[in-house]
Amino acid sequence: MPVFRPLVIATIALLSAGCIMTPVRHAKTITGSRTCDNSKPFPQMLKIPNIPYGWQLVPDCQRPRPTDTSMALDIFFEEWEHQFGDPHDRVRKAIDNLMIEWRDAPVPGGGYSINGTKVNLGRIKGLTLTKGYMWVYIDIGQRICLTSFVHELIHVALWATNQRHGDPDHEGSLYYGWTLRHSNFIQRVNFKLCRLNL
Ligand SMILES: [Zn+2]
Repeated sequence: MPVFRPLVIATIALLSAGCIMTPVRHAKTITGSRTCDNSKPFPQMLKIPNIPYGWQLVPDCQRPRPTDTSMALDIFFEEWEHQFGDPHDRVRKAIDNLMIEWRDAPVPGGGYSINGTKVNLGRIKGLTLTKGYMWVYIDIGQRICLTSFVHELIHVALWATNQRHGDPDHEGSLYYGWTLRHSNFIQRVNFKLCRLNL
């Protein structure tokens, strides 16, 4: 049974500089499982089906179901490969090894808007800490298409591709990678996910 220590992961991640810094939340060790159990404490670490080494940390059994996450990841990758390509399978490998933490609340903090403007005080709804770890805020009953899931996956894909950073300032000029095409890609993929009720 795999055992994760998110504290360690998150601490390393903060040193790697994502778009926005956030406090480390999970100080305890959590054991992974293939099925969610309402009688056990949360967050729980669940295997994402069909994603070889993909896991998700969930605040309850519905946010979201592992099969929904799996399907959303498949759709993202299919669209990504079609739009941007994946010549060395770097994005495929990043997704296959991805850890997604679903949080039940946004976090106050700063970062960059989509056009690269620095925002000092806002509500952070998602963050990519490394090419292998992202967290996403999801409300009760909210579908994946209405969260920052696809947005964060673009950071993951860019990070996996350039091996250096996830382009935290988006369309801004401090980091390279993210273009208007990527911003439009979010809308298109989310539209598709919503139509599939994901
Ligand atoms: Zn971002």
